Amino acid sequence: MRKYRVEFGSHSLTHQRLTDLPLDQARKEVTFSRSLLQEKLEQSVSFFCYPYGAWNETVISLVGSAGFQAGMVTNLRSSRFSPFTLPRVGIYGHNNLAVFRLKLTIGQWKEKKYFGFSS
Ligand SMILES: [Zn+2]
Repeated sequence: MRKYRVEFGSHSLTHQRLTDLPLDQARKEVTFSRSLLQEKLEQSVSFFCYPYGAWNETVISLVGSAGFQAGMVTNLRSSRFSPFTLPRVGIYGHNNLAVFRLKLTIGQWKEKKYFGFSS
């Protein structure tokens, strides 16, 4: 997949809301998901997407400590913008083509809002 420029990222081990877990359990979700993916893919995994878009400063710290370079959020709070709160648009299996198209439009709007341009 690498030759097609497809990037794999982590979304945790068991898709739990990391902000609700005890610290050690949240750390395992983040750390082991990265090491497992790296082992299977035989390449570095740099990106993490918070399950349910649930993140806080503790979870961000865990993600950074695990070696990820960036984290993706679906619920960006305007007061927090960093490589670990990069905005993304969630696309789901139940989204039909019209919704997919709408989300792409909203995504462009977000891109323009946060970066000052859209591609
Ligand atoms: Zn998810």
